[in-house]
Amino acid sequence: MVDGVLQLVCECKHDPWGKLGKDSLAGRLWSHMPNAGELNDSETYSEMWMGTYPTVPSRVRATGESLLEHLKKNPDLVGESVCSRYGPDIPFLPKILSFAKALPLQIHPDKKLAEQLHEKNPEKFGDTNHKPEIAIALSRFEAFVGFKRLGEIAELMRLKPLEAFVPEHKNFDDEVLRQLCTKLLSLPPETVSKTVTELQNSPLSDFGNDYRIPSLLRRLDEQYSKSDNGILVATILMNYMILEPGEALCVPADSIHAYLSGDIMECMARSDNVLNTGFCPRPDRDDVELFAQALTFRPHSPEESILLKKTSQIGLKGRSTEYAPPFSEFNVLGVNLSPQEAEAHRIIESPSIVVVTQGSGTMNVGDGSVHHIKEGNVYFAARDAELKFSTDKGLTLYRAYATF
Ligand SMILES: [Zn+2]
Repeated sequence: MVDGVLQLVCECKHDPWGKLGKDSLAGRLWSHMPNAGELNDSETYSEMWMGTYPTVPSRVRATGESLLEHLKKNPDLVGESVCSRYGPDIPFLPKILSFAKALPLQIHPDKKLAEQLHEKNPEKFGDTNHKPEIAIALSRFEAFVGFKRLGEIAELMRLKPLEAFVPEHKNFDDEVLRQLCTKLLSLPPETVSKTVTELQNSPLSDFGNDYRIPSLLRRLDEQYSKSDNGILVATILMNYMILEPGEALCVPADSIHAYLSGDIMECMARSDNVLNTGFCPRPDRDDVELFAQALTFRPHSPEESILLKKTSQIGLKGRSTEYAPPFSEFNVLGVNLSPQEAEAHRIIESPSIVVVTQGSGTMNVGDGSVHHIKEGNVYFAARDAELKFSTDKGLTLYRAYATF
């Protein structure tokens, strides 16, 4: 019989925006992998990827085989309903991200655009799939996500340094916002820099409810440069949000976002396509027209960006939180146990990936096997795995699973 629960060895990336050394949760979790070694305090640890994506694949710890190869040989582990849609694979990609400064201002193309981009430039856009994503805060998490309400943007665009950029219009609607966004992303560096300086010199009272804008301008200016077009788009057009641990964001395909600081568990459809326009070197930026044409205008308020959570029916003791985005492919369960507590998950009937983010405990599998689990351990669980979790000292884990 093939084991239904497999411990994985995952890899960590080192993007320049990642947190350094032990400050990085991604790094700390990854440091428990065999052969990870000591964390280097002058190195960034940005993303730990868990799953089958070919550029950063996870391996089965016991054999060293790639998880994807293992699933190809044992398709029953993922089951018929996944195989018929996606092949013997995991249709989602969970990651732990730790970032000390803004990630590139980005969108992830929808399926139709992904197909077009892949056809034109398969090297850069390796996937034909969409990439909606969710982000669950593991520490205090700051993000720019979606657009502010139109009225709020119109109000801010009346500020002296900005008024010249507003396109001619009768009604300030989403199409005018698309033009405005294109305009701000296309401004020459000197104009961006001059505008940012003028905004920084404006009295705080000019910003009304958006009183955080001057301090955000200062931080982004220090992180990148005053002439980065992303600064104006993020601070003036987008919602700035702070999430506490356990709270989550939902980012549909084509929706604008730039995460600013924190540690998160991210889960996305299995794709690595991205269009970047700010907070990255100019040569790395994608075409502004293409970016602006693809933009959606949902979410259009902070409330719309929040992914509501509920108690999951999968948790038999009511101690599992369900993060269920309104798109298919995956949901995520969060299990947060105090000392001496336990939780049991009924059989989900689809493949899942479990990552322990805090504490330690025991995971009992329905086939009788017992795993002592602790922070940084990552497991693949087959569709028919029945899992029970218990802890003496406290335990937090996340379990992403395929949905249909
Ligand atoms: Zn993203």
